[in-house]
Amino acid sequence: QWSLSDFEIGKFIGEGKFGKVYLAREKQSGYVVALKVIFKKKLEKYRFHSHLRREIEIQRGLDHPNVLRLFAWFHDADRVVLVLEYAARGELYKLLRSIGRFSERTAATYAASLAGALAYCHKKQVIHRDIKPENLLLDIEGRLKIADFGWAVQSNAKRHTLCGTIDYLAPEMVEKKAHGYAVDNWTLGILCYEFLYGSPPFEAAEQNDTLMR
Ligand code: ADP
Ligand code: MG
Ligand code: MG
Repeated sequence: QWSLSDFEIGKFIGEGKFGKVYLAREKQSGYVVALKVIFKKKLEKYRFHSHLRREIEIQRGLDHPNVLRLFAWFHDADRVVLVLEYAARGELYKLLRSIGRFSERTAATYAASLAGALAYCHKKQVIHRDIKPENLLLDIEGRLKIADFGWAVQSNAKRHTLCGTIDYLAPEMVEKKAHGYAVDNWTLGILCYEFLYGSPPFEAAEQNDTLMR
């Protein structure tokens, strides 16, 4: 069982809605990881327990070169800590914004990595549902890693069968499942456009205009 005292905490590397992310080194092995620290108070305030539980369960079960690994997790009185693979080159978003747009070759490489990772997730019945440039990270070699499974769902048919609740699923839930995987694939298309053009296709000052477009 891990605890914070097993790690030397390094620099602050990222901020999300519920977590702060720090660089850290496991003391025994010297292995460098990223620690995503989520305060329990915040979880309570936003009633986010089930999302975090899902994030952990789902990401623990994934092992693919383009999916950020979740090595372990633990908690103490105040916080929940996720021990993550460290993506040294940070967000793809920042790289894209700094250079404007990618060459066709670079865009194709990222698109292929993302498509491969999504195909793997979908094969495992996992839908990410929050694919965007901030949640695509780059490791030290520049390889793309899907991160942040906070909105992911696993529509495991077996589990429903076990619970015996499949007959009672609302039509919209069934519909969501049937169309679920397509939401990730749609973002792949949006990202291909953004990689090549520099901004997403339906961008507008007003959210409503984006929706209309
Ligand atoms: P949230 O669920 O709150 O959005 P994320 O998991 O997306 O949190 O993490 C927030 C930010 O922290 C990311 O957008 C990224 O910039 C940084 N980050 C998260 N995990 C890592 C990691 N393993 N390696 C490097 N940076 C990370
Ligand atoms: Mg995020
Ligand atoms: Mg999240």
